[in-house]
Amino acid sequence: MSYTFEPHRNFAERLDREDILKKYRSNFHIPENIIYMDGNSLGLFSENAEKSIHRVIKEWKESAIRGWMAGEKPWFYLPEEIGKKCASIVGAEKEEVIMTGSTTVNIHSLISTFYQPKGNRTKIIADELNFPSDIYALKGQIRIKGLDPEKELILIKSHDGRYLDEEIIAAAMTDEVALVFLPSVLFRSGQLLDMAFLTREASKKDIFIGFDCCHSAGNIPHRFSEWGLDFAVWCSYKYMNGGPGSPAFLYINKKHFHKTPVLAGWYGCEKTRQFDMSIDFGHSRSAGGWQISTQGMLSAAPVESALDIILEAGMDNIREKSKKITSYLAYLVEMVLSKKPYNFKIGTPLDPEKRSGHIALEHETEAVRIGKALLDNHVIPDFRPPNVIRIAPAPLYNTYLEVYEMVQILKKIMDTKEYEHYSKERGTVS
Ligand SMILES: *Cc1c(COP(=O)(O)O)cnc(C)c1O
Repeated sequence: MSYTFEPHRNFAERLDREDILKKYRSNFHIPENIIYMDGNSLGLFSENAEKSIHRVIKEWKESAIRGWMAGEKPWFYLPEEIGKKCASIVGAEKEEVIMTGSTTVNIHSLISTFYQPKGNRTKIIADELNFPSDIYALKGQIRIKGLDPEKELILIKSHDGRYLDEEIIAAAMTDEVALVFLPSVLFRSGQLLDMAFLTREASKKDIFIGFDCCHSAGNIPHRFSEWGLDFAVWCSYKYMNGGPGSPAFLYINKKHFHKTPVLAGWYGCEKTRQFDMSIDFGHSRSAGGWQISTQGMLSAAPVESALDIILEAGMDNIREKSKKITSYLAYLVEMVLSKKPYNFKIGTPLDPEKRSGHIALEHETEAVRIGKALLDNHVIPDFRPPNVIRIAPAPLYNTYLEVYEMVQILKKIMDTKEYEHYSKERGTVS
């Protein structure tokens, strides 16, 4: 798919007028005077989310413990209910998705179930560009099995520090490999891996495969059931707009429901038997069997209503706008900022089918300082070392005009060398 864009402001305004998702912006609290381009790290707060939080506060005030079973949405079933909603977003069956825990904890939980080294098959394939937490969890899980991560963890290399080649990953799937765990989208470059292809390759060789979909969930439609992957995890606070540190999701292919949840907890029990208080654990034959603990309701409630917005807007429409608005951003960067003296490079696949929702703007020497200058110019991007400013125009609330203005601001920062007023130290949270 290629788009035809024009470089002037009127054109951005026209794109906004034609945007079929434009009505959703007013549902979100856009920080005043800010061009927010960081929805891939923390999605914005919506009015829907606010209402749900107030509902739970009221239930807690008025019903106290009865809130677990009474009221409009009994708390006891909320993780299952929200899981069902999310299942349709990722193309899974209702019982295959549950809202629970956090991404890293869910990785530990699912790897502990799926990684069962036997005989020669002891290795895990991951990649050197993955989010560090995922790698820490994999190494920890290898150690728990009494093995050495230096030997058992195969980290697929990138030839350029940005992208991975799926053919190289497939070629590494030998009969020594027990499990493959990869991100759907690389957090720095935004490259979208071909999950269908990788799943086919892994299953041909009887290797379990799972994905971390933090950077695609809510931005890219998935078809988990059709692809047949074994498991997946993702958070709800990025493109899903569930709130800071909101609970995560996990997916388990139903053919694995009989497997043992190794990090077992009472919330994994069959719901009707949980309060039998039996010390013999019988897990629910559903993704819910992998829950561990009581879910915090104040953090769960906004996830549900944030998903309602996504369901109403439609994943295909979201993806269409995401491809178009990131293409528009890439076009403006090429036009305005890629030549001397600006020297920005795009470190994201130029084919929109091969990326998620952000553009990685690379600046060889000044990325940290330019990022800081953007903040003082009311633009919120984020910085990822060594040299990447990530700009994520989120399809549900960002406008084409904001993208246009952000590029003009960046140009001004470069023209005036404003960034030179800042130190090169990166902030603690960036
Ligand atoms: C955001 C993200 C995480 C975050 O993990 P938490 O456990 O929620 O802190 C982990 N992995 C990937 C790939 C991510 O994008």
